[in-house]
Amino acid sequence: MLTTPYWWEGRWPILIPQRSLPANADVVIVGSGYTGLSSALTLLKHGRSVVVVEARRVAEGASSRNGGMIGDLLKPPVAELTSRFGPQMASRLCCEFRDALVRFPDFLAENGIRCDFERSGRITGALSETQLAGLLRESEALRGVTGVGYEVVAKADLPSELGTDAYVGARLYRHHAGLHPAKYVGELARCALAAGAVICESTAFLSCEPTRDAISIKTSAGRIRARDLIIATNGYTGAATGALRRRVIPVTSYMIATEELPADLMAKLMPRGRVVTDTNRLLCYYRPSPDKKRILFGGRPAYTEISPQESAKRLGSYLHRLFPALAKFGRSHSRFGMIAYTFDRVPHVGKVDGFHYAGGYCGSGVVMATWLGNKVAHRVLGSAEGATAFAEIAHPTHPLYRGRPWFLPLVQAWYQAADTWERRSQG
Ligand SMILES: Cc1cc2nc3c(=O)[nH]c(=O)nc-3n(C[C@H](O)[C@H](O)[C@H](O)COP(=O)(O)OP(=O)(O)OC[C@H]3O[C@@H](n4cnc5c(N)ncnc54)[C@H](O)[C@@H]3O)c2cc1C
Repeated sequence: MLTTPYWWEGRWPILIPQRSLPANADVVIVGSGYTGLSSALTLLKHGRSVVVVEARRVAEGASSRNGGMIGDLLKPPVAELTSRFGPQMASRLCCEFRDALVRFPDFLAENGIRCDFERSGRITGALSETQLAGLLRESEALRGVTGVGYEVVAKADLPSELGTDAYVGARLYRHHAGLHPAKYVGELARCALAAGAVICESTAFLSCEPTRDAISIKTSAGRIRARDLIIATNGYTGAATGALRRRVIPVTSYMIATEELPADLMAKLMPRGRVVTDTNRLLCYYRPSPDKKRILFGGRPAYTEISPQESAKRLGSYLHRLFPALAKFGRSHSRFGMIAYTFDRVPHVGKVDGFHYAGGYCGSGVVMATWLGNKVAHRVLGSAEGATAFAEIAHPTHPLYRGRPWFLPLVQAWYQAADTWERRSQG
């Protein structure tokens, strides 16, 4: 079993021209994932010079490691959004995410990006009748706000969708999709370079100081002056950006790939090639690989770092509960990446300590990071297109939080206990 992401096969490393750090740029962007590269692209198209600094290899963060599952769902239910932000803002947030997904294929087409984008639809399987009722109530509430419809898949119809009898029913969103995440971010890097970006790998942002008319930025490769600075580090946000670090909670998310499976088995287990999630609190997500030869399975078997062997074991046992036929097949890849949660479980765009930022996608960043990366670039440009509801809400922190999520093991234990109790109490 390889301890690298499945997505890196034949795609890694993303080769870019090696550049030394220039002395000046209009805008410096820290982080070369979807957020950083999409904001770079917008700025370059508007004539700004852009330097992207990346502590590791280009796109080595979550953007080349994720599930590649595309949707338009915020984490909090509509009722929670409404009580926190009021009905109008709750509606704006949900509708903006809907619009971000609607426009995503146009963004790909406009930039000639080919990344195995496929409108496969998403199934969310319910593990109990209570969870199914809750899922459908929530989908109905969301439909009332965004107008986006869904379908209910009854237990009897599930075999035509998925080869597992774990679910009592499911919700189907036909407009959700899948893509190859590493191809996507590689294409973004290609577009940014073609538009004139300078990308400096192995260059860590260390600190910044405002000067009279610019920002002096210290990196591990020297200093650079820029008019504006964008921090696009999401789940990899570190001590160099303390104010942001206190507002994002880094969480590990793990993925495994099965070895290649027989075509008839794949056709039985995932006949429609949907991307899938379920209603467990300890979320899992899975999908076929773009070539439909493997199942890629992800989840949070631990909130802190565990070995690829241990995560493969834990994820594998859940996968086998869903699909017992897979017990005799091995795993080819196992790896994790970092996502960023926020205290209100909503992404944010803003400005603190003199830098702009976007992040906190709570595990749903493929579309949102692209969208908010573009928004943050427009905010730097001072253009009306920078308007976004995600910049109009306060970005909360907690007085006891300094960037080390000490409470995550407690959250995991609680989720695990609640999921087990619910499964047992409902037979
Ligand atoms: C296993 C996994 C599965 C996921 N599945 C899905 C999914 O199916 N669908 C979905 O929508 N989302 C998913 N996500 C979330 C999604 O991948 C992220 O939200 C998205 O990639 C965030 O992009 P980003 O550009 O903001 O951050 P990243 O891609 O994480 O990039 C941040 C970059 O910042 C760099 N950096 C950090 N600090 C510094 C510094 N000081 N100096 C220089 N560089 C620095 C890091 O090295 C990193 O490359 C998943 C994430 C993971 C980890």
